[in-house]
Amino acid sequence: MNLVFATNNKHKIEEVQQLLQTKIHLLSLGDIHCNEELPETGNTLEENASQKTNYVHKKFGTDCFADDTGLEIEALNGKPGVLSARYAGEKKDSDKNIQKVLQEMKNIKNRKARFRTIISLIIGHKEYLFEGIVDGIIAEDKHGEKGFGYDPIFIPQPLPPSPAGEGLGVRWMRSFAEMSLEEKNTISHRAIAVRKLADFLNRV
Ligand code: IMP
Repeated sequence: MNLVFATNNKHKIEEVQQLLQTKIHLLSLGDIHCNEELPETGNTLEENASQKTNYVHKKFGTDCFADDTGLEIEALNGKPGVLSARYAGEKKDSDKNIQKVLQEMKNIKNRKARFRTIISLIIGHKEYLFEGIVDGIIAEDKHGEKGFGYDPIFIPQPLPPSPAGEGLGVRWMRSFAEMSLEEKNTISHRAIAVRKLADFLNRV
């Protein structure tokens, strides 16, 4: 079954395709020749995810799903939240977003944060929402080169077990950007939401 994932973010498509059974083949926006920016003007992650799927469904008539994710930092009253992509400006520059967060978190002891993902799915003309949350803390500096977005400053808690060869059962502070895709996918916000989506798709 082909299903449109309303994104052009290759990292996300790779992450999600790995989590879905092979019977679901993901198509990107590029694959359906949707080259425009999708609307994302809502005040909540739910509204944004829903805007994206409704746009694609109306214009292309396909079943589809979209995600919207926010990094919610306790000491910043939930910011950057729904503004995560454009926190440091319209250019959606991940490095600048990270610098802004680190600056605002300077000298702040409470480093608690969470990633929250909402997935909107439109199938058979009906919409369904799925949520995934991972708790963690904001690091003092950037760590790691993998992943994308805020991964270098987000340390999930609890951490997944360390990979083989590093001492079985040992856990140590690592950011998402220091983990392989497989490791990130065992605990991430998007993985939790996608598993809910996959369970649902397996039942319809
Ligand atoms: P979006 O709603 O998924 O486009 O994401 C909003 C913002 O959160 C963007 O700046 C992304 O780079 C960032 N983001 C989304 N998912 C992740 C993730 O898994 N790790 C780190 N940053 C993410």
